[in-house]
Amino acid sequence: MGERWISSERRLGKHTVDGYLGRLLVVDLTAGRVAEEELNSEYARRFIGGSGLAARYTYDMIDADTDPLGPENPLIFMTGPLVGTQAPSCSRYVICARSPHTGLWGESNVGGFMGPQLRFAGYDGIVIKGRADEPVYLFVHDGEAELRDASQLWGLDTYGTQQAIRDELGERSVRAACIGPGGENLVKYAAVISDQGRAAGRSGMGAVMGSKKLKAVVCRGKGSVPLADKGAFETTAGEILALLKDDVSTQVLNQTGTSGSANMLSLSGNMPNRYFMAGEFDEVDNISGSTMAETIQVGTSGCFGCVVQCGRQVQITEGPYQLEETDGPEYETVSALGSLLLIDDLKAVSYLNYLCNALGLDTVSMGVTLGLAHYLYDEGILSSRDTDGLVLRWGDAEPVMRLIEMTGRREGFGDLLAEGNLSLARRFGVEDLAAQVHGLEIAMHDPRASAGVTLSYLTSPRGACHNKSDAYWLDMGRSLDDLGIGFTDRFEEEGKAALMVRHQDWRSAGDTLVSCLLVYPPSEALVAMLAAATGWGFTISDLLQVGERILNLKRALNIRWDWNPEHEKLPSLFMQPLTEGGTAGYVPDVEKLLTDYYQARAWDRKTGKPTREKLLELGLDEVAADLY
Ligand code: SF4
Repeated sequence: MGERWISSERRLGKHTVDGYLGRLLVVDLTAGRVAEEELNSEYARRFIGGSGLAARYTYDMIDADTDPLGPENPLIFMTGPLVGTQAPSCSRYVICARSPHTGLWGESNVGGFMGPQLRFAGYDGIVIKGRADEPVYLFVHDGEAELRDASQLWGLDTYGTQQAIRDELGERSVRAACIGPGGENLVKYAAVISDQGRAAGRSGMGAVMGSKKLKAVVCRGKGSVPLADKGAFETTAGEILALLKDDVSTQVLNQTGTSGSANMLSLSGNMPNRYFMAGEFDEVDNISGSTMAETIQVGTSGCFGCVVQCGRQVQITEGPYQLEETDGPEYETVSALGSLLLIDDLKAVSYLNYLCNALGLDTVSMGVTLGLAHYLYDEGILSSRDTDGLVLRWGDAEPVMRLIEMTGRREGFGDLLAEGNLSLARRFGVEDLAAQVHGLEIAMHDPRASAGVTLSYLTSPRGACHNKSDAYWLDMGRSLDDLGIGFTDRFEEEGKAALMVRHQDWRSAGDTLVSCLLVYPPSEALVAMLAAATGWGFTISDLLQVGERILNLKRALNIRWDWNPEHEKLPSLFMQPLTEGGTAGYVPDVEKLLTDYYQARAWDRKTGKPTREKLLELGLDEVAADLY
């Protein structure tokens, strides 16, 4: 393959907006061309960064017929103005495209060091179009970019790919976001893995990369981020850092990781097990974060500029699940590949997590799809004739290991599992048993455990997503007083929608920065850092409006695609109350919650569209013109 180098400095010169490098890399894989584009400063001001800015660019590039796995689906890697700075826990990045799993807006937010390296290499984001004839990877460094042959990498798992790229380039410091066999084989929920085992898991961005024959995006840079007021920025960042260091949540997350919450979630009847048939997991102690810390954990890890270090490093030296030191499972995985399948062996769960990371599969979608397979097997709807001879028993990790491998490679029954939970349910005529909303598998927070979580699943742009509002925390007792979000009981439905709307707007704004949802700096301080970075005089209200603007834009994108008001519901599976545990007896009143939500959003309940007035109020004139 010929070399295709460009020099960004020669083309565009200095940045034009403080807080930004002012450049996007635009890659046309079909033509084998790499070029630069000046960042649209008006878009940056209105959508800031992250998935908001990516959604605005996407809006210009897609139409109703854009095939998620076709060359015309743009794949966007995007950072934000705080990425690569001293802003604590704000150095994540997002990968966005139309999702092949849902047909709707797809995005996945991931930590590590990849986002900062992209910025240090001179770019705010990368827009990737087309499809290569042969496997390639993109190498970006210090204002230059090159497409390189990846045929020798095709077929390698994600750990092997990252190592091979480091070896080929002879640089230990490069960061690679790559796909494994899952992405190559277009598993609908294939993940993109970077920084060893950090997964951009949800909504199938790995499959989009695979469809483009793009094995990896690799970054390394030595540059820095231009700030409008460096002194003010460093002062505010330092104050936030001091607060976070003293925060008890920081210490708990550092000591036990996200799976440290498993005991509390189980106690409240909110740790799904036996495929959502129960919410209290009797064996939770066996797979909790504190047990991990006491047994197989050998260290912690974290993202650029974060004091929390919530990542786990585990090692298993004996028995059937031996692992060299590698990333340990976080809460969602401990539940999806553990309690949901009644597997209470932490070593087994860690090994299943490793397998998903190596193959490049989203652990939540994989676990929920396997959960349905186990349930159907238990009910006699599925037999070993369907599973290539494998016998599925609750709590037995051996066939699960095999099924994950078969899914990543689309072998036998794995080819059906690779299509996800809803496809599996449809194949056996039990669509009501699919645990999903808009095609995305429900995460490890039971909607019957919280009215807020129910609304989050129903209204998130990417389907049943728990990350577009932290309702699972808010409804459990956290209040955000500086945002006017007070605590309401988790089963209280009156007034819930208005609080959810406000919190979704704030979370949507946080996604633009790109901040971590596990860390809560004071809202004023976050706004002050954005102001010091960009010179923009934002207030909390301004930032909330940016978040709202983005959610309206994403809704408009979904309306253009396959969004269907009929699908905005909880599956029948969740309309039966649990009979035991802290969640017993509650079934959310979906109709009331949605009616209140649509009213609070000024969206039309019948069509799902934002009203024309709302779009104009948010400055989305172009969207209003398209929708009306
Ligand atoms: S809290 Fe964890 S996931 Fe979030 S930025 Fe820190 S290390 Fe990364």
